[in-house]
Amino acid sequence: MSEHHHGHGHHHHHHDNHFTDMEARVKALETVLTEKGLIDPAAIDAIVETYEMKIGPRNGARVVAKAWVDADFAEWLKRDATAAIASLGFTGRQGEHMRAVFNTADTHNLVVCTLCSCYPWSVLGLPPVWYKAPPYRSRAVIDPRGVLSEFGVTLPEATRIRVWDSTAELRYLVVPERPAGTEGFSEEELAGLVTRDSMIGTGLALSAEAVR
Ligand code: FE
Repeated sequence: MSEHHHGHGHHHHHHDNHFTDMEARVKALETVLTEKGLIDPAAIDAIVETYEMKIGPRNGARVVAKAWVDADFAEWLKRDATAAIASLGFTGRQGEHMRAVFNTADTHNLVVCTLCSCYPWSVLGLPPVWYKAPPYRSRAVIDPRGVLSEFGVTLPEATRIRVWDSTAELRYLVVPERPAGTEGFSEEELAGLVTRDSMIGTGLALSAEAVR
């Protein structure tokens, strides 16, 4: 029974071992291809970075932008994020459930996986290295305000910070607050303001000037 305390069950650790095995195979493949002069490791790093920073999180940015412009969608996202997100064509690979947590004027949400690296792949793509690293995983819970300040986010003292611990079964998407001065923005322009970090909670949406 302690196995399921925290929601990180047996199945989940199989999943992690599977990933470790896959990572080892990928590494081996990369080494062989590099030695044969077929690939440049720097080019691989650039591709991974593109997936982490740009391509992966675009799905989540579209979900957030839609929630900002469409109150019915936002309501649906609040009630049943898995279904609302799936309606845009973004579904998990293992049937994991999604929950959207909305930042407000007095509450900021921060997502972590304290035990491993559960991450909402379907909307954010590949997790950043820091998300999987022990310092973030432990400190996000103990000292969320300190962690946020290291990411350059300073919140008013009165703002409550809620920390959400992801599991294999339930993953979180932070819906950042819509920036001021974006009233006339198209959904596409709004999506351009939604950064990966703002959907993990280690950042805020960009200000209006960023896209216009
Ligand atoms: Fe995990």
